[in-house]
Amino acid sequence: MLTKSKVLIIGGAGFIGSNFVKFLLNKGNNEIVVYDNLSTGKLENIQIYIDNNSIKFENVDITDHNIVKKIKSQCFDYIYNFACPASPKFYLEHPIDTWKSSVYGVNNLLESILDTKTRLFHSSTSEVYGDPLIPCQTETYWGNVNPIGVRSCYDEGKRAAESLIYDYMRLYDVDVRVARIFNTYGPNMAENDGRVVSNFIMQALNNEDITIYGDGKQTRSFCYVDDTISCIYELMNCSKRIKTPVNIGNPNEMDIATVAQYIKDKLKSSSSIVNQQAMSDDPKIRRPDIKKAKELLNWEPKISFYDGIDKTIKYFEKRVDLSER
Ligand code: UDP
Repeated sequence: MLTKSKVLIIGGAGFIGSNFVKFLLNKGNNEIVVYDNLSTGKLENIQIYIDNNSIKFENVDITDHNIVKKIKSQCFDYIYNFACPASPKFYLEHPIDTWKSSVYGVNNLLESILDTKTRLFHSSTSEVYGDPLIPCQTETYWGNVNPIGVRSCYDEGKRAAESLIYDYMRLYDVDVRVARIFNTYGPNMAENDGRVVSNFIMQALNNEDITIYGDGKQTRSFCYVDDTISCIYELMNCSKRIKTPVNIGNPNEMDIATVAQYIKDKLKSSSSIVNQQAMSDDPKIRRPDIKKAKELLNWEPKISFYDGIDKTIKYFEKRVDLSER
């Protein structure tokens, strides 16, 4: 990517989006615009870059159809779409907005790049595989999703977004790169997002009960955010058109009880580990097959769970210190 490219990052105040803003600035990119409706993102994640004029920020909602004209008038080279509540807690609280941002929002973005040379990145999710029936999810797996369950606003919303993208691609040859992002963690996660890593670290730091939902035997595979964003960058900058989704994640699979124990021990916390009711339709296993990303992009995650958790703990420790001052 040229450092002069004009880039729009939608959802750039959120967890992955704000890390991506920082990454592009470090690469020397000098024309970055961020749109975010601040529903789950936080301005403080990017405030420093707004204050020193490294980026322009606008409070814009992706579902507002006026965004089409607005984007078209600015001739962006690259658009990255991170806009959508992504933690189960947030999307269960806002199911209709979640579905709208995935479907209406993505339709708006697709309209806005019609008849242009703008390349669009779309963040899809491992949730498109639902509660998988195969141990390691390849991109060719069609998934096992409850279409009317409480998680369907997110799972089906993201599936519908992919469906829209590939219809636009077949009909209008738009250049869209789709990543199915598996569990990602790291600095700028919201401490109240209810995700397992943020919850367990905050609970352990505060010596509160560490809450395992269900028996703790369910698995996830955790990727540190720097690894995730380097893959997103490679996917977007690959000179070869990539016309199908690519999994991004760390195949190192672990069960949730192990994560709880590790974080408790690491923080020498006096928290108790307690079991609570399992979440509805909670996937029992999740592990990405990343062969495609390796072959196409020469990418694989570099940061171990243990190093990544250390960095994430440091981030949350600072947040706790600040809130106590
Ligand atoms: N989980 C848990 N305790 C928590 C938060 C989450 O046991 O305090 C479990 C959750 O039920 C799921 C896994 O951890 O099985 C990962 O949850 P998360 O919300 O991080 O994301 P998901 O992968 O489900 O989207």
